Amino acid sequence: MHELIDPIRRRAARILGTQPVPVGIEGGVFSISFDDFPKSAWEVAGPILKDHGVLATYFVAGGLCDAENIGKRQFSVEDLLALHAAGHEVGCHTFDHVSALRISPQALDAQISRNAQWVAERLDGYRMTQFAWPFGDVALSAKAVVARHFERSRGVRDGVNLGKADRNNLQAIGLESRRLPHYDLEGQMARTAQNNGWLIAYGHDVEREPSPYGCTPQDLLRVITLARQAGLAIATVSSACSMMAAARA
Ligand SMILES: [Zn+2]
Repeated sequence: MHELIDPIRRRAARILGTQPVPVGIEGGVFSISFDDFPKSAWEVAGPILKDHGVLATYFVAGGLCDAENIGKRQFSVEDLLALHAAGHEVGCHTFDHVSALRISPQALDAQISRNAQWVAERLDGYRMTQFAWPFGDVALSAKAVVARHFERSRGVRDGVNLGKADRNNLQAIGLESRRLPHYDLEGQMARTAQNNGWLIAYGHDVEREPSPYGCTPQDLLRVITLARQAGLAIATVSSACSMMAAARA
């Protein structure tokens, strides 16, 4: 039954209840994010990001700490502490990594609060200001919940954010081995630069032999290189928001 109704609910959430906000800055901006997140998103991706002076946003689900998810070992508290200390952003991805299509708005609210508390207890009171929908599942009734808690929320619908975008369902591209071969990355980066847009990428594991949801270290290096060649600024989701706000002021 879910299979029949989910596409309709996803479409409704995409079209209805939108809160369009202006996005983008002169010359365009690129944000890299990791969801859940697998240990290699820090152990392997972290040094690459450091080498290239890039800060990323890690959307964490506290319930996945030390767990296994889609066949990949997930982050530990030490990883979270290390990436936070290195200046990367930590965002919210619910506590139990649950689809908003499977739980009530009240239950989602509780998931967000539990994750906020879990992160704050480990990162000295740190408060997350950005959200990524688990599985990219956006429920219309849940959009008001995330809007109350977060500045922006990111989905997984393919595309560049240009002009105005729904603050509760930003578009993104997947740093995923199942998707990357189908993208025209150079074209997307060029479109972002020419139209002063915001391109957001999300990934999971970063390994020599990645899962369908992850990418190789070379893939990560390539998107960083292409973004720089296109002249895009590279910033965390929060920093990109701040840059946009400053540009409008
Ligand atoms: Zn996820």
